[in-house]
Amino acid sequence: MINYKLLTPGPLTTTETVKQEMLVDHCTWDNDYKQITQNIRRELLRIAHVSEDEYTAVLMQGSGTFGVESVLTSAVGRNGKLLIAANGAYGERMEEIAKHAGLSYKILHFPYNEIPDAAVIAEEIETDPDITHVSMVHCETTSGILNDIASVAGAVKGRGRTFIVDAMSSFGGVEIDMTALGIDFLISSANKCIQGVPGFSFILCRRNELAKCEGNAVSLSLDLYDQWKGMEMDGKWRFTSPTHVVLAFAKALSELEAEGGVPERFARYSENNHLLIEKMRNLGFQTYLDNNQSPIITTFLYPDRADFSFEEMYSFIKERGYAIYPGKVTDADVFRIGNIGEIYPEDIEKLCGIFAEFLAK
Ligand SMILES: *Cc1c(COP(=O)(O)O)cnc(C)c1O
Repeated sequence: MINYKLLTPGPLTTTETVKQEMLVDHCTWDNDYKQITQNIRRELLRIAHVSEDEYTAVLMQGSGTFGVESVLTSAVGRNGKLLIAANGAYGERMEEIAKHAGLSYKILHFPYNEIPDAAVIAEEIETDPDITHVSMVHCETTSGILNDIASVAGAVKGRGRTFIVDAMSSFGGVEIDMTALGIDFLISSANKCIQGVPGFSFILCRRNELAKCEGNAVSLSLDLYDQWKGMEMDGKWRFTSPTHVVLAFAKALSELEAEGGVPERFARYSENNHLLIEKMRNLGFQTYLDNNQSPIITTFLYPDRADFSFEEMYSFIKERGYAIYPGKVTDADVFRIGNIGEIYPEDIEKLCGIFAEFLAK
């Protein structure tokens, strides 16, 4: 087995100490274990700058999509109408969720290399009074664009609608002040910027909005309200929880704090990202985005060479210790490099050295 570091948007490279936490088999009804869940929930609220009076955190088994599906199907329910602002595959996945659940929805498509325009969203809300909820992605991992949730929050909350944000690939790596923005539901998962391993998603919910979800869900296991009700009692998850993942996540949270919290992690990711873009440009690579680049993941265009093969490049780099990521935008031939996780400027230097070697060959 080749051991390599992940330059992907999650799962990502975690620390040895986070991985070591998973060597213990924990009992799910044990009090110590339930307290770990409760501590995680409190810590997530603190990171999001919200009070426990106004907000609560719910952990949900499954990957990030399970969390998004849980929120959309529990919050919008049978009587609401969802407006989705999409500029990438994860925004479009919200439409798929809405379709499957038979929710009433409308989707506004924006180009993948542009951020959703708050004025367009505001106009849509004005012309369609049936719209009750608006959802969007913060960092669209498809391209690596960082969307402006603040301007959209103004348009949505100013018109009394519920605001749902998929902050999967940004939460923990980019500061998000949920209180200031008035976000009602924010979704992220264990294996992104908190730097845990995959296995559950988490949802930060405004309490009075969560209360409205009672009885709405069309699914038993993804019922956000029931999941919260169970967990709120004593920290026990409704159904079997991913115990090893939970222990690793608690450790990852303490390591985030030790690093200096979100501002310091943001600074490290930003440094990685700026260095990556500068060095790749020096090698002749072009970025897909001109503006609004996130410090999380970057999309690069394929080099303009007849002999270029992504597969070949991927293998060459993997054999030398790093896994990069294929592209996902639909309008260009691209590949992606993530710079989150246990990744430092030395890794970026090394990676770009490997790219130079590959191009010379
Ligand atoms: C990772 C990610 C998700 C969730 O994807 P899963 O494969 O279900 O973990 C959702 N939205 C965004 C923006 C993501 O980056």
